[in-house]
This record gives sequence, structure tokens and C-alpha cells, in this order.
Amino acid sequence: MRRIPEPFRIKMVEPIRMTSGEDRKLALEQAGYNPFLLKSEDVYIDLLTDSGTGAMSDRQWAAMMVGDEAYAGSDSFYKLDNAVKDIFDYAHTLPVHQGRGAEQILFPSLVRKVTEGRNDNPQPVFISNYHFDTTAAHVELNGAKAINVVTQRAFDTTSHYDWKGDFDLDLLQQTITEYGADKVAAIITTVTCNSAGGQPVSMANMRAVYRLAKRYGIPVVIDSARFCENAFFIKRREDGYADKTIAEIVKEMYQYGDMLTMSAKKDPLVNIGGLCCIRDDEELFQEVQTRCVPMEGFVTYGGMAGRDMEALAVGLYEGMNEDYLHYRTAQVAYLGERLEKGGIPIQTPTGGHAVFVDAKILLPHIPAEQFPAHALANELYLEGGVRGVEIGSLLLGREPATGAQKPSNMELLRLTIPRRVYTNDHMDYIADCLIEVKKRAESIRGLAFTYEPPVLRHFTARLKPV
Ligand SMILES: *Cc1c(COP(=O)(O)O)cnc(C)c1O
Repeated sequence: MRRIPEPFRIKMVEPIRMTSGEDRKLALEQAGYNPFLLKSEDVYIDLLTDSGTGAMSDRQWAAMMVGDEAYAGSDSFYKLDNAVKDIFDYAHTLPVHQGRGAEQILFPSLVRKVTEGRNDNPQPVFISNYHFDTTAAHVELNGAKAINVVTQRAFDTTSHYDWKGDFDLDLLQQTITEYGADKVAAIITTVTCNSAGGQPVSMANMRAVYRLAKRYGIPVVIDSARFCENAFFIKRREDGYADKTIAEIVKEMYQYGDMLTMSAKKDPLVNIGGLCCIRDDEELFQEVQTRCVPMEGFVTYGGMAGRDMEALAVGLYEGMNEDYLHYRTAQVAYLGERLEKGGIPIQTPTGGHAVFVDAKILLPHIPAEQFPAHALANELYLEGGVRGVEIGSLLLGREPATGAQKPSNMELLRLTIPRRVYTNDHMDYIADCLIEVKKRAESIRGLAFTYEPPVLRHFTARLKPV
């Protein structure tokens, strides 16, 4: 197949620094064997995250120059508000500083609807294909429980399945019955499903989830960080969508939700920002607006500068450009193919924003409590200055009640590809490094803590090889 070149020309460059093996050994040691604690100048190719790391276009930069910084009634807000109405058909928009800002102002209202006027003190539940980590954190901060019901097929990295982000509909029904529909604060449809490997949710599944939710009067929130990549997979893989535009597909997807939260740092191609939008519930909107003012900011800027709202209004459309999405998903697939040819086990098929390497298979001699995927991340950094991130036991942490390590379904090394930043030559380099690491797989050692923080330990933990 013909390789797809970048559908853009490069107008500005940012030098990156190659380091020596000695430099990297020292840097990793000083970082407590935790790539999160590396300085970015010591990293050659940074695949830690696709969040806020994308490159804006000339049009987005130009839009920033006309940002209206009025405290109230900013023209830039109305541009953003109009873009949301046009793309999603949702009437009400609040800009927020990033995705978690939307969770912070929306979730308390959803919880209140479950608990208000009851004296049996029920614990509300949120059910998702898979809660993103900050999403689960905000559910729990509101005293509710986060339950994931993604298809079991997501956990078998070796088998090919087009829709590893889908809800297991039987399990969803069972969970609603088990807890009682009146205790379900919301169903959260995460597109694409980040935690399962950037895997898409099919339109059929979104539709079925929404129908089920409506039967029980449960609101549906679409967690929208990667809505464009999800729409592109629907176009490519799902019957009946090949001839539809991305815009048409997106519009249908959002009929299967009542509100959306969005980290605009992903598909919408900005470095900071987010959205909380509500389809038509005026009363809910008013309540969320009231919370927005003290927590994010006045309702026509929320957590964003006027210039940033301008860049986002442009980025929402650029993210849906089909040539771009073709190149984007092809680049991720290209890295995946190079790795597979080199005998590296990965989550298949590759998803929208990252390649996930299965460290359980690559390093079977390292037990979960010695963090095989984290050990692999360290080796990849030592080999070539490439920074990936562990998605496994280290990230998952311990059971609060017992202090025991939570059992993880998967031990993955995520190689997250920033948008419009690296070329396919970079992908070749990354693949070559990892294939080199594989040659010494048997000699790679696991890790033990020298410092383990009590919460969100993966960010600041310090470790040493055992
Ligand atoms: C990134 C992300 C969030 C949180 O957004 P932030 O902008 O990091 O606050 C929520 N949900 C999903 C699916 C995400 O990928």
C-alpha cells in the first residue's frame, strides 16, 4: 500500500536534542526510573501523551490574533458557541480550561438528581464503556461509583476486532438492573475508548446504549476527546457509513447523547481548553452555568482566553478534515505495522492516537507487581531517548481499603502520537529502537519503589531496578 505523506507543509520547526546513551542513563537515574520525572529537553521523541501536544495550523495561529478578550460577551465565545451548534447540534456551551473542568462543573448536578429528596442516602453510580482516569476521579469526588462495562474483547490484544471500544450491552443492562435505574446518575460513552487502546465505539453500539438509557430515563454524557478519530473509524469500518461525510457521522453520534464533556487538547488540536455542552436541558444548563462561574470563570469564557476560544473554533473543524484523519490514523497504523513485523506484540488493530505494546507478552518473566510495561518504557528511553508511558499496574494503584495492588487486565506501554508533530521517519526510528530493545528482552529487570506516593502514584513515584 502507498504510504500517506503528511497533508501539510512544515512552516516552522522546533529543534529537538539527541542525547548519548551515557546522558540518558544519568537522566533516568536522576528521574528515579520514572520517565514522568524526566526533563523534556532530555527526551528526543516524546510519546508520553497526545494531550495538548499537537501542532496548531497557520489558520489557528491567525485566529488567535483576533481573539476578543472581553470579560463578558466575547465575540470569540459566540464563534465557538456557533461551531458547537453547527457540529454537534447542542444548544448550550460552556468553555472550560480542559476536560476535567467540564467534569467538575457537570457531575455534581447529575449526582444531585439521583440523591435529591431521598432519605435512604443512595450511592449514585456512573456506568461507562471505560472511565478515563480524571473522569473516574470526579465521579468518586462526588461520592459516586464508577463502573466500566467495555466489551471483554478489548482485553485480548492478540485478536482483531473492529470495535474494542464498544459497551458490553448485556453487562450494561445487568449493571442497571443490579443497582436500579434510579441510582444511575449517567451513562458515559467515551469516544474513542482511550483506556482500551484508543479503540472506537460503533454507531450501532452508541445507538443501542442511548435507546437503553432512554428506556430507563438515564442521561447520556459523551466524553468527546477523540470524537473525530472515532467518526473516521465508523466511516471506514461500519456498514452504511462509507459515503457519509465526517460531519454527518459526528452529527449522528451526538444524537445519542444528552450532553458532552470534551478535552479540546486531543482531536480539536489546541494546546489547552475544553467544552461542556448540553443539548436542550435549559434547567440543567442554568445549574451548570452557576457552578461554572466560581470554578472555571464567567460563562462566556469559562476557563479560556478569547484567543484560545478562536483557535478551538477553527480546530474543531480541522480535526474533522478527512484527509487529515486518514493520514493521522495511517501514521499510527504504520508504526503498528513496523512493530508487528519486528515481532513486537501490540493491541490490534491499532486505534486512533497510540500504539499499545503488550509488555505482559514481551516480558513474561517480570511479574505485574514489578511493572513490566514501566520497565519497557525505561528501556526504550535508554535505547533512543523515546518517552512512552505505562498503562498497567503502576497506573492502576492499590485498593484503598486493603492496600493490595489492584489486579490489572493489561500491562501496556502506550506510544502516544502527538498530532501533526512527528513524521513517519520518526515512526521508523521509534520502531527500530523498540526492536533493538526486544533483542535483550530476557535481561530486562522489573522495578521496585524507593518512594511510593499515596495517590496517583505513577506521576511522582521513584523506583529502582530489582
Ligand atoms: C484527556 C481526557 C479527559 C480529561 O481531559 P483533560 O483535558 O486532561 O482534563 C477526559 N476524558 C478523556 C477520554 C480524555 O482523553
